[in-house]
Amino acid sequence: MNYTTIMQDDEIKQNILKCSRCGLCQGVCPVYKETKNEKNNARGKLMQIWGLKKGDLALNSKILNNLDLCLNCGKCKLNCPSGVHTVEVFCKEKQLNTLGKFLNSAFIFNLKLSILGLFSFFKKTPKYKKESRILYFEGCIAKKLKKKLEIKGIKFKNGNFKCCAMPYLSKGRADVYKDFSYYNEKIIENADLVIFDCATCYSTVKNYSFKNPKNKDKLVFYTDFYKSTEFYSQKSITITYHLPCHLKNSGINIEEIENILNSIKNIKYKKMQNADDCCGFGGDFFIRHPKIAYLISMKKACNVINTNADIVLTSCPTCLWSLAFSMFINKIFRKNVKIPKVMDLNDFINRYCNIRIKQEKEINQDANMCKSLV
Ligand code: SF4
Ligand code: SF4
Repeated sequence: MNYTTIMQDDEIKQNILKCSRCGLCQGVCPVYKETKNEKNNARGKLMQIWGLKKGDLALNSKILNNLDLCLNCGKCKLNCPSGVHTVEVFCKEKQLNTLGKFLNSAFIFNLKLSILGLFSFFKKTPKYKKESRILYFEGCIAKKLKKKLEIKGIKFKNGNFKCCAMPYLSKGRADVYKDFSYYNEKIIENADLVIFDCATCYSTVKNYSFKNPKNKDKLVFYTDFYKSTEFYSQKSITITYHLPCHLKNSGINIEEIENILNSIKNIKYKKMQNADDCCGFGGDFFIRHPKIAYLISMKKACNVINTNADIVLTSCPTCLWSLAFSMFINKIFRKNVKIPKVMDLNDFINRYCNIRIKQEKEINQDANMCKSLV
């Protein structure tokens, strides 16, 4: 079962019945940690959905709110010993009325993004001269900010994809998710490689129910290109890194990112406590549940600030916003504390790090060594 597969009713039932009610999902749920309300963790949500299905519970605003109190971080799923596909169940079972459907329609989502686009009104949209079958999956936020993907000095062609559809799926709009995923798969089908720089888009697309399973192998996150690269920074900087939940969900763990960070000469990497804890943003969760989002983001901010780093890095636009917001609040209220700058990891590498390209002499030496081993 994929992370974002649309579940059928019998699968929902099977998953709920798989829950042994052990409660291990409770300790990892960022929402439960703040509310201490059983009805907000995965077990509680599953029980409420089961009660609704059996007719023991009648749908009311409290239940709707309990089901909505979810960051889609996937931590419950990763930690469930019974393998319950919690997130898929929650996505499918979000109950939307007609107004809810309208508020979570493509029209309203694009309207919100258009407001964001005003910030980059004067920026030029990047142009690419060469035709390429290596495409950049430009997320909705990157599109509005007219961001371009550049890795080791190479700019990648924008694939003109639609939204990955997570903003819709997480609100129960499986219909929009289906349309967008089919559309995007057609573009992936004609590409050799698709590169992502947004953890949420990567995790969502990677788990599409592909018609052609080979298309999944074409998807890469940009950090893959940096795995065996030698960098050096002209400036001596201390950095820390926040791992987005969706990066962890797609199989990229903190150690993989740390290997890249530790390989940058002249950079000191300091691991923050609970580097993979949620930042509290969760798409538009912070608008719907600002108090809980605020409490979660402040916990993250404390862990960031405690490292005494100059810069905090991450790899997801919404995590960037959340960190920027919490750093801003701390800057106002904690005058004597060093507040790190917030940056995207790839932007940081492009701005601060030079890439050491092997000299011809070294390449020849490597080739000779290889020959001697044959
Ligand atoms: S960890 Fe899994 S099995 Fe245990 S209560 Fe949570 S959902 Fe149920
Ligand atoms: S996805 Fe995250 S926020 Fe939602 S119930 Fe699971 S652990 Fe809690």
